[in-house]
Amino acid sequence: MKIVRTITEMQEQMQKLKSEGKTIGYVPTMGFLHEGHISLMKKARPENDIVVLSIFVNPLQFGPSEDLDAYPRDFERDHKIAEAEGVDFIFYPSAEEMYPGNASVKVTVVERTNVLCGKSRPGHFDGVATVLFKLFNIILPTKAYFGLKDAQQVAVVDGLIKDFNFPIELIPVETVREEDGLAKSSRNVYLSEEERIQAVELSKSLKMAKSAIKNGERNSDELVSLMKNHINENTTGTVDYIEIYSYPELEEMKMLKGKVIVALAVKFSKARLIDNTILEVE
Ligand code: AMP
Repeated sequence: MKIVRTITEMQEQMQKLKSEGKTIGYVPTMGFLHEGHISLMKKARPENDIVVLSIFVNPLQFGPSEDLDAYPRDFERDHKIAEAEGVDFIFYPSAEEMYPGNASVKVTVVERTNVLCGKSRPGHFDGVATVLFKLFNIILPTKAYFGLKDAQQVAVVDGLIKDFNFPIELIPVETVREEDGLAKSSRNVYLSEEERIQAVELSKSLKMAKSAIKNGERNSDELVSLMKNHINENTTGTVDYIEIYSYPELEEMKMLKGKVIVALAVKFSKARLIDNTILEVE
């Protein structure tokens, strides 16, 4: 496995492999790898000749009051995990390498972004789209793997790939969870012991909504208040949002029909957790 820190070397290596007809599977991450990231690597490995993992905590996608400096990092551990998963290249650039000066062109996401995390984190998806625009041009992937835990990100990347004609196949991967149902996240380490116990209520509230839908509930407001009450009564966290939209368009729907996403974000003292479920409603 090779660790590459410069854009020039990465691009050269990838161009060479592409010219030899190799397929490239790409897993973008911010590091501090866990089972969620590992599931993306495991999916990519048999589907591609070459697997590339990038580790880059992208400053552009963090707001001024967010956890950029505190974001957990452990490259040595990540290195070992990637090696064990048969990754061929880790692209591990510095922020200076990725953003050497003021940009003269900016990427702005205009659809699928005024709701959910896009609404609570202004500029976040512009930062995500900008870094991916660059990373796609550096890594030249055949397939790119993204987790559905960040389902809005998947929707935005789907738009980016289609709008800018990247010859990349987007592969969404199911959310990996802890045994009690909590979605795996690098940010879970910031939960206190008590919060960690309460955090199970997030996935429980999604299950409650799912079974209410199964039992015939179609009213979006009713489902949201059911979930909100459950989280407020059973956790010390603050609900940032609980919302239901069509997926992947992320358009509002009062009465549920077709493919929908039920999504939530809850703020605990040091971590903001997100989770969602995507389902087909008859
Ligand atoms: P991050 O390092 O948080 O930017 O995540 C990198 C990739 O891993 C993104 O595509 C995430 O959606 C994905 N990911 C993060 N957590 C999970 C999880 N629990 N299950 C599946 N994929 C995940």
